[in-house]
Amino acid sequence: MNQLQINNGKQSSEQEAVLRADKIEKRFADVHVLRGISLEARRGDVISLIGASGSGKSTFLRCLNFLEVPTSGSVLIRGETFQASDALSRSSASKHKLRRLRREVGMVFQSFNLWPHMTAAENVMEGPVRVLKEPPKAARARALDLLARVGLLERADYRPSQLSGGQQQRVAIARALAMNPDVLLFDEPTSALDPELVGEVLAVMTDLAKEGRTMLIVTHEIGFARDVSSKMIFLRKGLVEEEGPPRSLIESPKSEDLKMFLARMR
Ligand code: ADP
Ligand code: MG
Repeated sequence: MNQLQINNGKQSSEQEAVLRADKIEKRFADVHVLRGISLEARRGDVISLIGASGSGKSTFLRCLNFLEVPTSGSVLIRGETFQASDALSRSSASKHKLRRLRREVGMVFQSFNLWPHMTAAENVMEGPVRVLKEPPKAARARALDLLARVGLLERADYRPSQLSGGQQQRVAIARALAMNPDVLLFDEPTSALDPELVGEVLAVMTDLAKEGRTMLIVTHEIGFARDVSSKMIFLRKGLVEEEGPPRSLIESPKSEDLKMFLARMR
């Protein structure tokens, strides 16, 4: 057994792409929402995606874990290539393949999407128990560890309705981490929060970035994105209009569209 297998693949070279999207296109009926977006994330990269409402940010993230099936293009993760045909086939091999993808690409949504009838700990345990077949006791112990990491150990047995939005989002982050994904996707994780609760969620995300997690973050928090991300991508009308180090984009935007977008953010 080689080193890669022993470490479940997580020890691969720093230079290797953890995730690669190649010319992702998405059409909804006659609307061409994504017009060929490519991106590569290496281990520990934090990539922020910015752009006006309707530019395709959410659709792009959803295409990366096949919550939306790309019309064309492919996603490469752990040496495996995923494309439309994998989602359209009903074979059990294809289903297993998609399950592997979703396991490696965790997602945190704007609206938390916690299960309302379950406690925080149960929300975090659910994936490990159902999908990874972890014994419930071990899964609960791990869930408590993860809740402690997001500062919510004492809320482990509360239901979502008994938690603030910021706390619910931190539970959702713990739930995503519980599957130990290679990549974490965040779709405007603080947009649904009252302003005073934004900071606690950004603080957790900053910790994850410092730990070397590979993350793609759609956000309107430009200052946060500048501070945590290794790369920033500005999407416009389903295409990458500008990309590079966050400071370059923010301090010396080249395109008129990015200049206007940033001006509106201020
Ligand atoms: P963003 O997240 O940047 O605001 P979205 O990815 O949500 O943008 O949407 C991009 C475009 O795709 C919008 O014009 C939106 O109306 C359209 N769109 C998104 N999802 C669907 C869908 N399921 N059916 C039809 N059009 C969609
Ligand atoms: Mg969106």
